[in-house]
Formats: sequence, C-alpha cells, structure tokens
Amino acid sequence: MSKQTETFLQSVEKTFDQAAELVGITPGLRHKIKVANSTYTVRFGVRLRGKLFTFTGYRSVHSEHMEPVKGGIRYSPHADQDEVEALAALMTYKCALVEAPFGGSKGALVIDPSEWEVDELERITRRFTQELAKRHLISQAQNVPAPDMGTGEREMAWMADEFKRLNPDDLNPWACVTGKPVNKGGIRGRVEATGRGVQYGLQEFFRHPRDVEIAKMSGTLAGKKIIVQGLGNVGYHAAKFLSEEDQSVIICVIEHDGAIVDNSGINIEELKAHITANGGVKGYPGYTEDSANCLALDCDIMIPAAMEGVITKHNADQVKAKLIIEAANGPVTFTADKMLRDRGCVIIPDLYANAGGVTVSYFEWVKNIGHIRFGRLQRRQEERKTNMMVKAIEEMIGKPFPVDVLEDIVAGATELDLVRSGLDDTMRQGYQVISEKWHSDDRIPDLRIAAMMISLERIVDSYKSLGI
Ligand code: NAD
Repeated sequence: MSKQTETFLQSVEKTFDQAAELVGITPGLRHKIKVANSTYTVRFGVRLRGKLFTFTGYRSVHSEHMEPVKGGIRYSPHADQDEVEALAALMTYKCALVEAPFGGSKGALVIDPSEWEVDELERITRRFTQELAKRHLISQAQNVPAPDMGTGEREMAWMADEFKRLNPDDLNPWACVTGKPVNKGGIRGRVEATGRGVQYGLQEFFRHPRDVEIAKMSGTLAGKKIIVQGLGNVGYHAAKFLSEEDQSVIICVIEHDGAIVDNSGINIEELKAHITANGGVKGYPGYTEDSANCLALDCDIMIPAAMEGVITKHNADQVKAKLIIEAANGPVTFTADKMLRDRGCVIIPDLYANAGGVTVSYFEWVKNIGHIRFGRLQRRQEERKTNMMVKAIEEMIGKPFPVDVLEDIVAGATELDLVRSGLDDTMRQGYQVISEKWHSDDRIPDLRIAAMMISLERIVDSYKSLGI
C-alpha cells in the first residue's frame, strides 16, 4: 500500500464529487460550487523582542451565495492554503446543512501560540486584523471570523476591538467576529457550543433505533465507552457533558504528548486542570506515551476532536469504535471512511457533528446586530403569566403544585436557556434530515454523503434563485 494518503482538501472534494453526482448537478455549476472563490495570503511584519518577524496569514472565501461568509481563524504552525481552503469549503456545506444564513470562509495564521507571550500575541493579532480589515475580510456584513484551533475568546476580543478602532462610527462593530467574551458582545453558551453540539448530536443518534442497530449498539449513551482525541475547547466540553450528564464512560483521552487510559472512567475536570497546570497529560494517572495504539482500544464511540487526517488508510483497520463522531474537521480521510464503513462502523460527519459552533455564532451575530440580550424583553412577562396559570390551576384542583418542580416551571427563559434550546433544536433537526436522506435511497452509502447532498441541494437552489 502506498504511503501517500489524500490531502484534507482532496478528501472534501471527493465527498463533494460523490454527493454532486447523486444530486445531479450540472458540470458547470458543480465546478463553480466546488472551488474556493478566493484565497488571500498576507505576509506582515511585527517588531518584537527588538527584531522584525514576518508572519503569514490566510483567509479563504469558498462561497458567497450567502453573505456574510463565516468561518473560524486558527493559529497553527502547520496551517497552509490547502488546509484553509478545505476548511472554508466545509463551512459552506456546514452552514447550508444547519440553515445558518452564511457562505463559507476560513482563516489561519502560521504561528505556534505557545512560543509567544500574551502581549506579543495581542500585537500580532491586531496587525493581522488590520490586514484583513483592509480587504473586507473581517466585516459584519461580508466576512465574520470565529475561534478555531489555537484561538478563543481572547483573540476574538482583540480582533473586535481592533476592528472597532478602525471603524469608530460603525453602529455594529461587535458583529464583525463571533466567539467573543460576554462582556465584549459575546453570547452565553458560545464557548462550549461545539462540544455541546456534539453531545446533542449523539443524544439524537440514540433516538434513532435503526441507526443505532446499524452501528451494532443498543440502549442510550449511559455506560458507553468513549475515546476522545484532543482535550481542547471542543473535546473537553464534549467529554465533560457526556460523562457528567449522560453517564458515558471516557476510557481514554489522547493528547499531543501521550494518552490517559482508565477503563473505569476518567474525571475530565481533574484531567483538564492537570493539562492546564502542566501543559500536557504527562504525569496524570494512567499515562502512556504510546498514544498511536490508543486509537485501537476497545470502545463504543470515538470522538476525534483535535485535527484533520488522524484516521487514514494506514490505521483505519485498527480502529474498533462502532461509532465515530467527527468533532474535529476532517479527522477521517476519504479512503479511511470507506474502510471503516465496510466493517460496519457508522460515522457522524464533521459538517454536521461540529456545527454547534457556527450555530451559536449565528445567534451571537444576530444579538450583536439587534443590540439586545435574548430573553431580556419577555422573561419576566413569561414568568408572570405562568405564575397566574399555576395559581388558577391550584385554585381549580384545590391542591398546591409540587414545590420541587414549581421553580423550573415558572422561571422565564434566560439567554443561556434560549441558546441551548436553539442549539438542541438545530442538532436534532440536522440529524433527522440526514438520517432520513441516508435511508431514502440505496445509492446513498452513509450519513456523510447524505449530509453533503442536503447541503448541495440547498446551495444549488440558492444559486438558481440568484440567476447565476
Ligand atoms: P483547541 O486548540 O482548543 O484544541 C485542540 C486540542 O488538540 C488541544 O488540546 C491540543 O493539545 C490537542 N492536540 C493537538 N495535536 C494533537 C495530537 N496530535 N493528538 C492529540 N491531541 C492533539 O482546538 P478546538 O477549537 O477544540 O478545535 C479542535 C477541532 O475542532 C479542529 O478540527 C477545529 O477545526 C474543530 N472545530 C472547532 C470549533 C470551535 O468552536 N472551536 C468549531 C468547529 C470545529
């Protein structure tokens, strides 16, 4: 077998080709949708530590059939144009699938954040923002970045602040980027949204007995043995919620410096605290250096939540998971996908599985444009009406409401309640449509092609109404 494995972009494009064939898109439109509209490369200098350093950044715009376009910015020493274009394309399909009204985009800065002090990172981020702003590649109406690998609330706050300085008379500057801290125009529930979306996606999967049976499982998430790769933003939240709220057992966490294995279940909060204090998993009980072999451990579910291209034709045969949910973008290559499927593994694809992030980013963008916190107007009004109803019922039946549920019944929805409700609804509906599509036609091999077909049908419709 050749050592060569397909690139991330090739994997995305092969999936696209297979789905486009089944949808029956004409060759001209097929090519138009497939390719990135533009990819901007910028090299800029920042004077630090008494020297001039040159940094390379990218922002790729895949499709502008809806605007603004949307997609994260990652900080990674390995980022390149191919990767950014693959990620931008996935954003187009992801947004169409979960009906977030955006085109697809993605950005990256070639940098290892751990090599720089916080104030240095701030200067670099602000300079990068200036370069993007010059070309409207950060703009609330045209291109709205968000966090991704190596970036978070802090970087988004710097970007928003820099954009605001450059546009002091703009009414909606905070909408130029999502994933900001709540005190800088962010929304409650965004930090954990992608991991929360993975949890909601898995919960919905287990409401589909036919799909659960195909994966040779039964029951619910309770007691299911899970391997998580990457305990960063997405992996940590998914693992935390699944173990604390669904009684799943996290038997292995794979990180950049090794893995932790514990068949009785890893305490995710404790492990995360260890990583924060020590920079890795080394030294935690159950540590092994041999993380490559951990992908082959016996388990029910695997959650790759680190990076792309980790399950390839070279290791797919060893994976024993019955279900893989792609919390990361592109963790399973096109060829590995087929090998896993051939032996009965079900894969919940990235364009659905990690769409919780962009879903809540959409809510944040709407909040920024609306200039009001969700629930602020109606919360107390709801409470007043429910209280009146409770009193009327109590009078009619001559008994008081049980106190243990009364508070929950009466309480009006907070912003966090509404965000969770909107995210849960999106993840439930998203799974329902892709599962239904999968089973609607024998030629559709899996959830990935089904999801891509739904996205493409919607994008084609959008192009048709545009008249292009
Ligand atoms: P992050 O930087 O917060 O976390 C990544 C984690 O993976 C880190 O803990 C890192 O140490 C670990 N890691 C790095 N190399 C590894 C390796 N070789 N083996 C095991 N672990 C390794 O990033 P994130 O935001 O959690 O993103 C992870 C993935 O999820 C990426 O593919 C990203 O594109 C995708 N994603 C993120 C979001 C979001 O909202 N942050 C949304 C959608 C998709």
